[in-house]
Amino acid sequence: MDSYAVGCARPDRWSRSKPEDSVSSSWHAVEAHRPPAELDGEVELASCGAIVQVWGAHRWDRVRARETACAECKRITAGQLSRAS
Ligand SMILES: [Zn+2]
Repeated sequence: MDSYAVGCARPDRWSRSKPEDSVSSSWHAVEAHRPPAELDGEVELASCGAIVQVWGAHRWDRVRARETACAECKRITAGQLSRAS
């Protein structure tokens, strides 16, 4: 596996009254069996087990550097992407 798409935690699970968890881990890695652009908008299972919607325009190797990226997904993908960083 050499490619990850970016998934966003589904907005319908966010709550304005309880923003803490969703805001701190909004972005997840999704193992891409097809080019991420083809997965755009699809609901997939992230590497950490979260249900997310794929944003095909984003690249995980860039998003994972953000604080808002899922810590578990970062850990899971760290080995696979270490050569790219
Ligand atoms: Zn995750």
